[in-house]
Amino acid sequence: MNSGRNKRRAGGSSAGSDDGFFEPFVPDAFCREFVELRGHSNSIFNYMAVVLELKPLLDDWIPRAVLDSFVETGRKKYGLHVMHDVALAREWGDDRTGAPLKGGAGPAKRKTQRGRQPVAVRRDYAHVFVSRSPDNLEKGYRSGWYPGFQGSEIERPFADNLRFGGALGYPACCLDFFAASHAERNFLFSILSATGGEPDFRCNCLAKDTPYSYIHHMPCSFNCRESILYADNLRAEILKREPDYVRRTDRHLRLPYLVFEDQFIYAFDGRMEGTDAVSYSRSRFVGHPRCDAYSELFAGGDRLEVSGKKFRVFRGGEPAGGAAAPAKNRMFLVRFA
Ligand SMILES: [Zn+2]
Repeated sequence: MNSGRNKRRAGGSSAGSDDGFFEPFVPDAFCREFVELRGHSNSIFNYMAVVLELKPLLDDWIPRAVLDSFVETGRKKYGLHVMHDVALAREWGDDRTGAPLKGGAGPAKRKTQRGRQPVAVRRDYAHVFVSRSPDNLEKGYRSGWYPGFQGSEIERPFADNLRFGGALGYPACCLDFFAASHAERNFLFSILSATGGEPDFRCNCLAKDTPYSYIHHMPCSFNCRESILYADNLRAEILKREPDYVRRTDRHLRLPYLVFEDQFIYAFDGRMEGTDAVSYSRSRFVGHPRCDAYSELFAGGDRLEVSGKKFRVFRGGEPAGGAAAPAKNRMFLVRFA
């Protein structure tokens, strides 16, 4: 995956179908090592943001086998400090490919790894904290412990979630909104409801776990000023170093998305027709692998229509299937300008 370069435009023409659709992105130079070491380019913009000191801290899961190289490359080339702990990796999917594990028995139970003692790891991944500043690193490490997966379920206390969000550099307005609204049935719908005017592509958090996003937090609205400011700064700095990445990211953030709930989200390579329909050539699930229910259905169509809690898929004008959104979901179709 990492041996080849991304396809380049043939003649420098403006965006078109050659721009790819959620393909991995390998930078020409800036932060390229982190794509190679991790074995994927998802959320690589977070590394860029931390290196540029626009974001105080990130946390990530990396293969333990590359941990030493990761620490050394980060320190020597980018002035990064790294702390890590090790926990049982998630059992419900492969972190690198996003593919569900074969023969898996559904979502694994979680148990805290607060003690941070190394344990016999199933898939041998390390949880890393990365920052340019030792102080920020220490702050994040204290609040950013991660629930492991060992047989009984324990959630991280909510206060630690908020502290950790602060350490990661999330805007205060967005953390306040999260504290007040996170229990809503579909938090993304709450964000949409809090959005006055048109959703702004810089506040599109829906593809944050793919290579293509600027923000990695839940904004307080899809035109949150603080999030836009952050995204603008990051975008401007990346543009100087990896202009092709910015072009691709902008395009992906402006696609139509169908949202059922957090981690249950589809992107469509196509265009909206009014507010309730999309004609498309390709679709892509961008949430967590355990949540995907409709990839096959959408792949068989070229048009999607949403009506209330139901959606229908068409192919060449003929019905190709449909379903009602699960009762607990508040489905919506959205496009960011
Ligand atoms: Zn905000």
